Amino acid sequence: MSKGRLTGLVHAGREGAGSGTRPVNPPVMRASTVVFDTMADWRSTRQRRDTEQVLSYGARGTHTTFALENALTELEGGYRTKLYSTGLAAAGMVLLACLRPGDHLLITDSVYQPVRALCHELLTPMGIACEFYAADGHDLAARLRDNTRMIYAEVPGSLLNEMVDLSQLSALARSAGAWLAVDNTWASGWLFNPLAHGADISILAVTKYIAGHSDVMMGAAVCNERAYPVVARMAEAMGQTVSPDDAALALRGLRTLPTRMDQHARHAMAVATWLQSRPEVGRVFYPALTDDPGHALWQRDFRGANGLLSFELKGHSPSSRDDFIDRLSLFGIGASWGGFESLVIPVDVATARSVQAWPHLGPCVRLHIGLEDPEDLIRDLAQALERS
Ligand SMILES: *Cc1c(COP(=O)(O)O)cnc(C)c1O
Repeated sequence: MSKGRLTGLVHAGREGAGSGTRPVNPPVMRASTVVFDTMADWRSTRQRRDTEQVLSYGARGTHTTFALENALTELEGGYRTKLYSTGLAAAGMVLLACLRPGDHLLITDSVYQPVRALCHELLTPMGIACEFYAADGHDLAARLRDNTRMIYAEVPGSLLNEMVDLSQLSALARSAGAWLAVDNTWASGWLFNPLAHGADISILAVTKYIAGHSDVMMGAAVCNERAYPVVARMAEAMGQTVSPDDAALALRGLRTLPTRMDQHARHAMAVATWLQSRPEVGRVFYPALTDDPGHALWQRDFRGANGLLSFELKGHSPSSRDDFIDRLSLFGIGASWGGFESLVIPVDVATARSVQAWPHLGPCVRLHIGLEDPEDLIRDLAQALERS
């Protein structure tokens, strides 16, 4: 029987009917050492563990982490998944897995800022040429080189939510014989699936909407069949593993991802359209808005939106923007997002972009719209704007 995506997500990673009396959720299985009855068992497990999910050693995973890997693989339509301590670790480990000294990396100008820092801190000193391309990808073809080994994308981009045509990127990557890795945290596997558009690897900060409750750090790389052995080898070489308790929390969060995402998106749309009506507000960066420059692409490729939006404050200095943020009472000042609560941070576009300078953009603010009443959030924003 073919299943819908909601049904699939409820069942993903769980033992099916016929497997006996069982709890609804995969139990937490903690282990470092795994013991074997015979040397034959030990040897056959060692042979099988690179291609099968078998208990061999705690760092290689237990039934709890296997269940989460399988659920994320199903969510993203991948071949197999590796888990990491954070979303940033997932991105870093994918880069290290696929790139070697002498290679050229094309990376989006809209990349999550700590990944940009990783390029400067580690990849460039290692002899990997890191070159940034415009967030909308228009200059990408011209930047390809013979040694381009990977195109790294984010859609929509961090902070300003720029859209890029991933099908075009994957055609370029294929013609260049390069990997295409996509940070899919914005869609969190529910709203968009990069592998279906030709990507090799989808990187997820599970920390955000999948775990969904601001109390778990985790990352994942969902791979196609070509990328998995390469990604898995580096993860294992670098001792990457996650706690089964965290995996159980992430699995719990995953079950309600569509319901939460839908509410985040509805509330964010209410806030975004209200912001657009305000004279104190300049541009609003939210691809679900019909006049957003990325709207047509977003509508073509995505199934919905989330709670993240940024906007420009007109006539503000960075310090008066701080005053505006300080006047908000329902928005926590905090990084990360994807939990149930509303958050705010200032966006420093000058340090976040190197290809597109955005010379005329005033001070910007990023909101994560949580599950609160949108009317309350709007009232809070209104009083903060009115006094600015
Ligand atoms: C937060 C984030 C990450 C990193 O996730 P952590 O778990 O916080 O390390 C990576 N990519 C994007 C787009 C993010 O927003």
